[in-house]
Amino acid sequence: MKKQSLEEKLYTLKFNPDIYSHLNPDQNCCKKCTEKICTIICPAKVYEWNEEEQKLNVNFENCLECGACRISCPSKTLMWEYPKGTKGVTFKQG
Ligand code: SF4
Ligand code: SF4
Repeated sequence: MKKQSLEEKLYTLKFNPDIYSHLNPDQNCCKKCTEKICTIICPAKVYEWNEEEQKLNVNFENCLECGACRISCPSKTLMWEYPKGTKGVTFKQG
């Protein structure tokens, strides 16, 4: 069986995004954060640092709910919760 790339695997997921973000970083902490590990560790590339606006953009609609960003945030100021009800990601292949 052909090994799938991460992009191919992500393509098999279904999303039912909420209108509200379930991922809420403390933007003041993000400004001071030197590592910005969330922008590196997230497999779905949810976080993007906007240097011009000095703001962390959060594309929460693409979140896989793996929790890696929550664990790795050095200041532990990233407010993280599961999307409500039937919102969020659905894994079709286990
Ligand atoms: S790692 Fe935490 S503090 Fe740093 S940019 Fe990401 S959410 Fe903000
Ligand atoms: S929970 Fe996982 S997929 Fe969602 S934003 Fe955090 S690292 Fe990315």
